[in-house]
Amino acid sequence: MPAEWPRPRGIAHPDHLDRDVATLPGVGPIVTKNLAKLGLHTIRDLLEHRPHRYEAAAEEVRIADLLAGEEEVAIAGEVLKTSVRRPSRRLSIVQARIADESGQITAVWFNQAWLAEKLQPGTLVRLRGQLKRNEFTVRSYDLNGASATADFAPVYPASDDVTVKKLRDLVGKALPHVCDFPDFLPARIAERAGLPGRADAFHALHRPRGEQDGERGRRRLAFDELIVLQVGLARRRRGREGELAPALGEPGELVSRYREWLPFQLTEHQERTIGEIDTDLAQPKPMERLLQGEVGSGKTVVALYTLLRAVEAGKRGTLMAPTETLAEQHFLTLEDPCRELGVRVALLTRSVKDDVADAQIVIGTHALIQEGVELEDLAVAVVDEQHRFGVEQRRAITGNRTPHVLHMTATPIPRTLALTVYGDLAVSEIAKPPADRKPVKTAWVTQERSSEAYKRLRKHLDEGRQAYVVCPLIEESETSVARAAEREAELLRKGELKSYRVGLLHGRLKPAERRELMAQFKARELDVLVATTVIEVGVDVPNATIMIVQEADRFGLAQLHQLRGRVGRGAEQSYCLLVSRAKEELTDSALARLEALVATTDGFELAEVDLEIRGEGQLLGSRQAGLSDLRFTRLRSDRKLLEQARELAGDLVDYEGPLNEEVERVFAGRDVQA
Ligand code: ADP
Ligand code: MG
Repeated sequence: MPAEWPRPRGIAHPDHLDRDVATLPGVGPIVTKNLAKLGLHTIRDLLEHRPHRYEAAAEEVRIADLLAGEEEVAIAGEVLKTSVRRPSRRLSIVQARIADESGQITAVWFNQAWLAEKLQPGTLVRLRGQLKRNEFTVRSYDLNGASATADFAPVYPASDDVTVKKLRDLVGKALPHVCDFPDFLPARIAERAGLPGRADAFHALHRPRGEQDGERGRRRLAFDELIVLQVGLARRRRGREGELAPALGEPGELVSRYREWLPFQLTEHQERTIGEIDTDLAQPKPMERLLQGEVGSGKTVVALYTLLRAVEAGKRGTLMAPTETLAEQHFLTLEDPCRELGVRVALLTRSVKDDVADAQIVIGTHALIQEGVELEDLAVAVVDEQHRFGVEQRRAITGNRTPHVLHMTATPIPRTLALTVYGDLAVSEIAKPPADRKPVKTAWVTQERSSEAYKRLRKHLDEGRQAYVVCPLIEESETSVARAAEREAELLRKGELKSYRVGLLHGRLKPAERRELMAQFKARELDVLVATTVIEVGVDVPNATIMIVQEADRFGLAQLHQLRGRVGRGAEQSYCLLVSRAKEELTDSALARLEALVATTDGFELAEVDLEIRGEGQLLGSRQAGLSDLRFTRLRSDRKLLEQARELAGDLVDYEGPLNEEVERVFAGRDVQA
């Protein structure tokens, strides 16, 4: 097969693709800076910025013929007058009276107050949207003959600073550079798979003649990235072949004491996982295992078991969390059983530096490992969420000896998919939570009815239960988040939660204060914990049975699901109340997210919904490398493509040439060698 692999056709200059966006005509420092905020630095980034949809064809109708309905339609006319209202702190509404020769209508935009200035009387507009309650809710618009409402125009992930329109323009400027992409698939194979050439694929993606055209382009690019991923993972797997780890033998006395200490029986899924881990640990080859399971499914119990296996072999274990708060929370959870078992645990974060010299288990942040703390005799590393633990980092902590690694994630993806995307990891799964759990009941209420939500919450408190109130998400600094949370807590202390003991948890608290607060909440000295998203993972108080999430529409699906996992951890029925703005003010995707959360508590199902809403492989965003490298793949609908790519990749592991360069680029610094 490699023999017929082509040299790049024409003169490709892959390096040119890595030139700064500022080298494009008309792109100055401000645009460059704003593009950087979207993660777009190079010409390649622009070309690989995938439209999340295309503006479908919309029927253009006369204003007099507008009907309320689901279908998006277009109208064209002239602005008569414009006004802005601000019904609340977080909401602004622009209204413009629009006329064509048949009649008039009021068009509305939410939270785009700056638009008012542009909608001067006499401005010609073309608007796409829907008629709702006698007003025209605008989805996209063009002023004086621009092209945003055109059919099949790509709609890119954009920001306030860089609009979709601007992106269309910039991608257009980058498009001539597609000839610099080497095409590493032989035309014959591409044709057989029904796929266009690579350069054509980019053209189709950004300038489709129709929906199908764009889709064909996307599929080709998805195929390419899947092949690159598979080849890279296969090489990484091979690269590890000679590595040695301490074989830990059979489970011993310490873990059996741990089992006795646990106030419950392990579930069948936990037992199976532990069995798989024990088998790995008995080998002199480093374990590389991914443990998937919902929040609250009992992963932490398995994690501690694994760490104790290291300790009983006279070695050490480490548990790494992505943030200080999470590391501290893990520390709180593990402190008790470890004391009971006579195991020495140390916490190591930027702010707390316990002496690790004689600790048997060290809990800390990933950052700590990256800084290269040397842990002698490390046999097991448990990595909680988000970060793939690179070989580089492993070397840093172990001075060239390789520990067994267990990665844990609470945002599971279907197993077959996990095996493909994390081709170099073995996968374990806790698909069922401990038996006496009842799924959390979720309700969605709008702002005006939030006092009913608090009434419900107080009822739980009066029955001796505890509660969480999650503050609105603010995308600013930790400091302003903390300040807003303080304000929120103050309001609640004076209002809805007047006669209750309310604690406040946010990221600005000192670690000691946070620990103290969590201990108080656990000991039931507080009734309510008002918190920012720092409670997202790790807090474990089974007596907390109700949670209110304020402005839930601002959170992502995975995040809400994680938050909700803080309740429903005991045998009692638990509740999650999502408070949002009025439905009319919500974006389609916010509506879809909230509806999905009410409909199901199944994380796998939610993961699929999330995929659908976002329509791309960024299911877990930057949370899990590997997946986040997939820009073009749709994990759900591209399964067949995935299989084809996997098959082909098997033949290509040793291939040298343009594919090789691409693999090296994508896996740069991630220890892949041909
Ligand atoms: P995860 O880490 O997956 O979020 P945890 O290990 O923190 O889950 O477990 C969540 C809660 O369920 C904890 O209170 C834990 O003590 C409890 N738990 C774990 N395993 C079981 C089990 N087999 N039976 C009953 N309760 C369990
Ligand atoms: Mg946990």
